Amino acid sequence: MRPRRLVRPGTGRILPRQPVHRAGNEPAGSRVRIDVERPRRKGSQVSDRPVNRTDAEWREQLDPNSYEVLRKKGTERPFTGEFWDTEEAGEYRCKGCGTPLFSSETKFDAGCGWPSFTAPVEPANVEEAKDTSHFMIRTEVLCNACGGHLGHVFPDGPAPTGLRYCINSASLAFEPAEATADES
Ligand SMILES: [Zn+2]
Repeated sequence: MRPRRLVRPGTGRILPRQPVHRAGNEPAGSRVRIDVERPRRKGSQVSDRPVNRTDAEWREQLDPNSYEVLRKKGTERPFTGEFWDTEEAGEYRCKGCGTPLFSSETKFDAGCGWPSFTAPVEPANVEEAKDTSHFMIRTEVLCNACGGHLGHVFPDGPAPTGLRYCINSASLAFEPAEATADES
């Protein structure tokens, strides 16, 4: 018998529950249990991202500030976040799921009061989406792994990309580069 394909978590597709006809020794009409990983959320909120938690789980995991930014697309007030003026060497990761997002090497002072970067560490780690809220057309930046809202990207950054990834501190967790900075 071929191995049964399971539904990827969160895709919303569920295998039909049908009796399986076998030529074997099972009595007719016996019910076959099909193990289906069901999406944890119902309806349109289901996503097929690798990290897929319920709203209640996010609320429990994140501090209120980070929850508001990451899960509710909030924006922290400028010059109030933890990282807007940090210059330490290291990596900025998604506070929701730990995915590496930005490096201190691409961080620059944009004077805007939010941590700003010219590029993500890995283009595939972020997703960009059109955002038409607040009567503006902007490009939203999300963590590709968990869908957390990070901030926006604007075409007014410095070389080499000309981009300014304007990111909320509350969506980031900083990992200092001390491990590799030892005398070597
Ligand atoms: Zn994430």
